[in-house]
Amino acid sequence: MAENIVSGEDVILRTLEQIVGPSNATCKLPDLVAYEKDQNWPFVNPHLPDYVVKAYNKKQVREIVRLASRTKTPLIALASGINVRGLCIPSQGGIILDMRDMNKILDINLEMMTATIQPGVSSAQFSAACRKLGVRPAVTSAPDTASIFANYMLIGLYHTSSSDGNLHVLSMEIILPSGEIIKTGSSGLIGSPGPHARAGGPDLTGLFTGQPGAFGVATEMTVKLYPLEKFNAMVAYGFEEWGPAVEVGQKLMDARVALEVDIIDDNLMRTFLAPIADLKMREQVEKLLPRVLVMTAIGDTVKERMKINKKIAEDVCKEVEGGTKFAAMSAGGLSELTTGGRITVGMLERGYYHCFAFYGPLNMTVEYADLFYNTAEEHGFNARLDSSCLAIPQAPWNGQQTYFEGEVLTVDPTIDEERERILEYSEDVVYKLLDLGIYGWFRPYAETMDLTLERWGTTGEFMKRIKQLIDPDHIMNPGKFIF
Ligand SMILES: Cc1cc2nc3c(=O)[nH]c(=O)nc-3n(C[C@H](O)[C@H](O)[C@H](O)COP(=O)(O)OP(=O)(O)OC[C@H]3O[C@@H](n4cnc5c(N)ncnc54)[C@H](O)[C@@H]3O)c2cc1C
Repeated sequence: MAENIVSGEDVILRTLEQIVGPSNATCKLPDLVAYEKDQNWPFVNPHLPDYVVKAYNKKQVREIVRLASRTKTPLIALASGINVRGLCIPSQGGIILDMRDMNKILDINLEMMTATIQPGVSSAQFSAACRKLGVRPAVTSAPDTASIFANYMLIGLYHTSSSDGNLHVLSMEIILPSGEIIKTGSSGLIGSPGPHARAGGPDLTGLFTGQPGAFGVATEMTVKLYPLEKFNAMVAYGFEEWGPAVEVGQKLMDARVALEVDIIDDNLMRTFLAPIADLKMREQVEKLLPRVLVMTAIGDTVKERMKINKKIAEDVCKEVEGGTKFAAMSAGGLSELTTGGRITVGMLERGYYHCFAFYGPLNMTVEYADLFYNTAEEHGFNARLDSSCLAIPQAPWNGQQTYFEGEVLTVDPTIDEERERILEYSEDVVYKLLDLGIYGWFRPYAETMDLTLERWGTTGEFMKRIKQLIDPDHIMNPGKFIF
């Protein structure tokens, strides 16, 4: 950044200080270190930013974007930085734009069933504010402290009635690298009473979601809200094999009574048990775990309907042979599925968890599970202890559409040998999954994107052209998507 030093003074730092005040901009090493890596650093090498700046309003954000453009300095927006995919690691240095303090819920509109939020709004904050008013946002299993804004922008996995669909963003306000401000959906139309997702023409909200801050900085977002199900229940059945558990999952989706269906193996279930400090008690509970658990969350605004749906779900579970009713997971599982917020202690017991997340057809679950367990074994992991798998069928009108995760939970990446092993395992799994056939990855993240681009052909080239058009100097979070 030597060209930014004029007469011994760092002009970028000085300008940042002018925009946000001296206490909110820094280039001091102890301040920068906190941003150099996240939990996914074996896949995205740690790298220090040159500057960290805290913004409090969109005027400041706009001036910072303009400064980055003028000086061709990489700019990485950060909403909560909890990311597990290295997406906020400043791989080419530059400015980290920390928006954690832009955390206002600007509006909850009960008439329109929408809310408008800023980037730093956390999942728990949003969920609690909505519930107080008798409505509910789409929530995920992400940690409570994660930015719900960034989650919506990256398109997460939501626990919500299948009739809600899985796209919840109506409109966004985005500051482009040029400094221009655009609004997607009806918010872009002057005088529109909005909010509405459609404004004529192609879906611009779609263009700016599903990408990791590579097209601009989003400052506001309007999302859909849903009626709060006041009455909830959980139906959980354990199986000793994946096959019948998947059959139940399919039948539950076809019956259309569930808010969410989770099919998870015993290894993943163990991660929920970590907070049990008493080892003896933990051992006893572990012995009770079935090999595969089907968890179904039921919820409704009307008690009687909830009860009927619960009965239907239970009957569906009983129809398939080999299942055992499993009540133990109910309280914690129900709370996570209805209000969001995962208990992460167990997942991060060894400081790291490695996860592949992708979409594929439900009827390939057994093949995916075998792929994960076998590849883990081939790379020296213990399939029964280290590797886990889950399937979450998504929406019945999309037939087989299912979200999958394959995890390795016991890696300590600070040990060179283990880190190398997980890197080799990971590359192997990416190619094997692409060969077996998946719909696509859950999110664009470095570990999978580079290898997938080879197969994206003309579509990949077209995306490169869009990126070039919006961000010609490649300053927006470079190295994380396409460039
Ligand atoms: C243990 C664990 C479990 C999880 N489980 C789930 C789950 O079940 N479902 C799910 O959906 N997610 C899950 N997540 C992922 C998590 O929800 C997302 O990472 C989070 O919601 C987004 O917040 P973040 O802190 O990652 O955002 P950040 O890391 O701050 O940002 C993520 C990306 O978005 C970009 N960005 C952020 N804000 C802006 C902005 N205003 N404008 C432009 N670009 C921006 C950043 O540059 C970065 O590339 C889980 C994460 C963990 C750690």
